[in-house]
Parts: sequence; structure tokens; C-alpha cells
Amino acid sequence: MRLPKLRELIEAIKALWKGPYTSKFPYETHRPYPSFRGQPKFNEAKCVGCTACEQVCPVRAIKSVDIIDDKSPRRKMIHYTDTCIFCGQCEAGCLADKEGIKLSNDWELSFFDRKLSQEEIEKELQLCEICGAVIACKDHLKWIAERIGELSFSNPTLYLSKLKGLGIIDENITSALKDFGRSDRVKILCSRCRRETTLTTKE
Ligand code: SF4
Ligand code: SF4
Repeated sequence: MRLPKLRELIEAIKALWKGPYTSKFPYETHRPYPSFRGQPKFNEAKCVGCTACEQVCPVRAIKSVDIIDDKSPRRKMIHYTDTCIFCGQCEAGCLADKEGIKLSNDWELSFFDRKLSQEEIEKELQLCEICGAVIACKDHLKWIAERIGELSFSNPTLYLSKLKGLGIIDENITSALKDFGRSDRVKILCSRCRRETTLTTKE
């Protein structure tokens, strides 16, 4: 007769007074361990829309979509729970001090409608004031300006974003000067328009 292994025997004896290791789900609610890696969730207030999480996700379970229509331009960050493998790379690589997306304890993730498995947030986009190209999310520009402190005053795109965020200058104010020359330099610009307005000799 095969004798039980010593470790199994000890576990069986311990279980007599500690109770079973497994939960009685679905008759009782299962409570996962605090370190359990469940569904990642965006924090719209903390996320700056940088797309770093999209770039590090090994299975492309995160997608960003820039929308420019009649409403204010915005970036949609979408998480596909049905593709996610709960590896935690998005949280580990999150630019916003790992607060923009976090793995939760949610584990009961069966959906009858696949669309319900998607979670999404929207972040406001900053467009170039000359050509209308997407520069970055407004919160991302403010985040960079805060990180580099007074160095941001060497870059009009950064300090104007910061001042607009603080309400010191009007969000909707735009310069009347549109000569695509040096007078346009103090504007929020994409890198191409920044280069052209800096190098041009028009005055
Ligand atoms: S947990 Fe892993 S697979 Fe899921 S969204 Fe984050 S990086 Fe992608
Ligand atoms: S701030 Fe974090 S959650 Fe938001 S887009 Fe960047 S990496 Fe993703």
C-alpha cells in the first residue's frame, strides 16, 4: 500500500482546524488574495494619455484611438479584458507613477455581450495651433512641464499648456497673427511647425 507523503499528511492534519483552502463559490463569495492580478482598470483622473501602457502590453489588449470631430479632440484609451493576460506590464510601465492603470481584484469576468468586456476612458488632445496635427494629450503636456520645472520655459508648447491648465491664460485664446513666421513662435505647436516658425526669416 502506498503511504501518503509527509507534506500531504501535514497539510491534511492542518486543514482539520484551519478549514479547507478552497472557497465554496458560487455558494459563497470568493475573496481573492490582495496580490491577486485581476482586471486592469484605468484611473481617468490620473492617466495622462501617453500610450506607454499600449506600447508595453505584450498581447495588444490596450489600444488608443485619436478622435477629431465636431466635439473637442480626444484620445480614447481602450482596454480589452477578453484579450488581457493579466501580466501587469501596463501598471508597471505606467508613466503616471503607476496610477493611470492598475490591476484590480476583479476576477469574475464572464460577459454575455463582448462589448461589455471593453473598458475605456477619454483624454483631451492638444492640436497644433497652426497645422492642427495631434501633439499629445493636454494632461501629458502638463505632466512634462511639471516634471521638468523651470526648464519648460524654454518651450512655448509646454509653458503655454501649463499656464492654460492653471487658468492663467484663456483656454480658447488664439493669436491673430498667422504669418507662419517668427511671430507665431509663442504658440502651442507640433515639432514640424516649431521648426518652420523658428527657421523662417519672415517677420
Ligand atoms: S495586464 Fe498585461 S495583458 Fe493585460 S492590459 Fe496590462 S499589459 Fe496588457
Ligand atoms: S498614463 Fe498610464 S494608463 Fe494612462 S496612457 Fe500613460 S501608461 Fe497608460
